[in-house]
Amino acid sequence: MAPQREWLERDFYADLGVSSDASADQIKKAYRKLARELHPDANPGDTAAEERFKRVSEAHSVLSDETKRREYDEARTLMASGRFRGGNGFGGGTPGGAGGFDFGDLFGAAGGAGGGGGLGDMLGDLLGGRGGGFGGSAGGPRQRRGNDLETETTLAFRDAVQGTTVTLRVTSPSPCTKCHGSGARPGSSPRTCPTCNGTAFVTRNQGHFGFSEPCPDCQGTGTKIDDPCPDCQGTGITVRPRTINVRVPQGVEDGQRIRLAGQGEAGMRGAPSGDLYVTVHVMADKVFTRSGNDLKVSLPVSISELILGATISVPTLDGSVGVKIPAGTSDGRTLRLKGRGVPKRSGGSGDLLVTVKVAVPTKLDDAATEAMKKYAEAERASGFDPRAGWGR
Ligand SMILES: [Zn+2]
Ligand SMILES: [Zn+2]
Repeated sequence: MAPQREWLERDFYADLGVSSDASADQIKKAYRKLARELHPDANPGDTAAEERFKRVSEAHSVLSDETKRREYDEARTLMASGRFRGGNGFGGGTPGGAGGFDFGDLFGAAGGAGGGGGLGDMLGDLLGGRGGGFGGSAGGPRQRRGNDLETETTLAFRDAVQGTTVTLRVTSPSPCTKCHGSGARPGSSPRTCPTCNGTAFVTRNQGHFGFSEPCPDCQGTGTKIDDPCPDCQGTGITVRPRTINVRVPQGVEDGQRIRLAGQGEAGMRGAPSGDLYVTVHVMADKVFTRSGNDLKVSLPVSISELILGATISVPTLDGSVGVKIPAGTSDGRTLRLKGRGVPKRSGGSGDLLVTVKVAVPTKLDDAATEAMKKYAEAERASGFDPRAGWGR
């Protein structure tokens, strides 16, 4: 059998814990040791060990066969060299830079898969798994997940701080309501694709080795539909408006993105939907600004309030609070009110920072002007010099 793409996702050398230039003897020894340790008889009921046992056996079956090992090495070398780089317009999901490997060329011929970007996305996911655990990559049809969607919403400042529920309207490919996404006329059901036996992939030979590619017979869905649903023509998808209620958590900040798993575009014939990303914009508030979990408010005060001291009602998120301005407070001073700021997701709240700012009257009546003149004289007499710091 020719190497499968699945082979390329696997590091058989790592599975056996040997280096890539290990001798046949070293491979045999490593395999025997692991097989003994991981054998199901030695680990009853341990599914992780069983899974590893299978992987080790598979790795050994390839690496112990001279021809298979050479093909595997060749394919991996090509992959590492990036020879297949240069996709041809699979819009979505670039397969994360690291390996620089893009199946675009290889799969270009498959074409006709429709739904632009889907294939790229899927491959991005596949390749993303390379280098980490490959859990779940073996067996079973790998259906094309729907594309991710982007949308945005604008919140009032206080709603963002306190959390709210918004209703989004999104018009996008969605699971067909008539056939519930199966693509088959209600009363009938899809059958397993005979070309790929429901695996959604077929193997294509390419030089010394082969790759699996989306099955052209079923467009990589693994199923065939004899009697298509009239509403969606067998795709399982209809474009329609949806309303989605989104609970926006408290404390969300301007520009943050919220991911709604499974609320993106529907996948073909019941394949999982993509995700919906909602970018949140937060409107400015007349009173408050924000700095992380702290709320800031600028408090206009009169000169006399600063001189004599005062208790002033200051708005908070849920009402108001009396703030005591001590006598002799300087203009521009910031008072901190613990726990009156933005609720934290972890519990508790940030602080409310109140900065006093003198408002100077532009029109005073005679009585006030007279009083002010008297005050100015008394102030001088008391020895107050606002510019004493200049040290003339
Ligand atoms: Zn339908
Ligand atoms: Zn098929």
